Amino acid sequence: MENHKRETPLKPRRLLLFPIPLQGHITPMLQLANILHATGAFSSITIIHTRFNSPATAKHPHFTFLPIPDGLSETEAGTEDVIQLLTLINKNCTGPFRDCLAELLATAAEEEGVACLITDALWHFSQAVADGFGLPRIVLRTSSVASFVAFTAFPLLREKGLLPKQDSRLEEPVLELPPLKVKDLPTIITHNSEDLYNSLVAEMVKATKSSAGLIWNSFEDLEHSSLAKSRKEFPVPNFPIGPFHKYFPASSSSLLAHDTSSISWLDTQPPKSVIYVSFGSIAEMDEKEFEEMAWGLADSLQPFLWVVRPGLVRGSKWLEMLPIGFMEAIHGRGHIVKWAPQQEVLAHRATGGFWTHNGWNSTLESICEGVPMICMPYFGDQRVNGRYVTDVWRIGIGFEGGMERGMVARTIRRLMVEREGEEMRERIMWLKEKVDVCQKQGGSSHHYLDSLISYILSF
Ligand code: UDP
Repeated sequence: MENHKRETPLKPRRLLLFPIPLQGHITPMLQLANILHATGAFSSITIIHTRFNSPATAKHPHFTFLPIPDGLSETEAGTEDVIQLLTLINKNCTGPFRDCLAELLATAAEEEGVACLITDALWHFSQAVADGFGLPRIVLRTSSVASFVAFTAFPLLREKGLLPKQDSRLEEPVLELPPLKVKDLPTIITHNSEDLYNSLVAEMVKATKSSAGLIWNSFEDLEHSSLAKSRKEFPVPNFPIGPFHKYFPASSSSLLAHDTSSISWLDTQPPKSVIYVSFGSIAEMDEKEFEEMAWGLADSLQPFLWVVRPGLVRGSKWLEMLPIGFMEAIHGRGHIVKWAPQQEVLAHRATGGFWTHNGWNSTLESICEGVPMICMPYFGDQRVNGRYVTDVWRIGIGFEGGMERGMVARTIRRLMVEREGEEMRERIMWLKEKVDVCQKQGGSSHHYLDSLISYILSF
């Protein structure tokens, strides 16, 4: 970060940041806050946040944290329907956020001006609120550029009859968004919230178009053609400054405690032998899938580190649905934890593959450590990320055909021991080198970070 350092600003400028309260969104927003803080260009950084999934404030003493009421009842906060949750918080937080901003602007004006507001793209309501105060709003989009560009095509795809998805057309290519097939379009199957989802996507795209700029946790060499499309769709400055987590060592924004036995167990395993398995903070599966997955892991004969998050298996607390005889069958060849220090796990010499749901953070973290993937996207942007991993960057194997133990074992062996996996490992190592270059002086992310700072200071 040294060579991004700025002189102490002539006029003290405060930054306001507002993350979406989900793990895959809080982490990159706090990473961005740390990146901007380390430049020394801003006098202070305030993180406005909901009470629900409140960030671990004590781990970030250099920021001011301001909680706002989110109006969620216990049942609403516990819902598994992310779309309902996001719709509700956008509605509930409008008033409290406006009040909070009004107070901040009134008191800040005397000592230090507020430079701008940076909010997650999913906080679409915040554009109108910022406009009301004449405050520039920059959007942070925490997923891939490719998936966001796909959202902008939704109205056209509806007109063409490709959305909503029909079973008979799932394998059709989407000509406007190569290499995506209809099945890869970033939709979400929810109980009854299809309309809510469409409206959330439309509002998010509209509010981003009216924003003052767009920050990406991605980099030019990885998503060059999607970035070109984004610059057309969103005619505001685009700043691909990622990967965020590479600016600093392991992050400290985890909502769950990391089980460090993951690392001591990995220390006992041979180099590149372990398949790391984790489907992130939201994905779920049923008991039958869990059982097939467990036996597939056992039958693969590869060592594995498996994150079974409480709540991963619907209706279970943690491991009670593991099949009888499983632990005996694996003879210590596997280690199961509730939550792992993922970045450290991926960087460990024993980790040779990552079976992932292709959340964008996981995908980027895997690229940065040169670990090839088995892609099993669940919903939304994960499908787009998965398609890019398998078909564009060719650094992962798509997991097709539903959870079945034979398929699990075969796919793991294809990645971990066969030539196919070795070729993917070579290609991902090449991408990993690109990451290292892009953040050094003269690299693209380095350049965009400098322009972002100058841009904010110009407000
Ligand atoms: N993560 C972690 N430990 C785990 C699983 C995940 O620390 O056992 C972190 C991971 O490093 C990533 C984030 O949780 O930064 C998950 O974000 P992602 O976008 O991949 O998926 P989401 O949880 O949003 O579906």
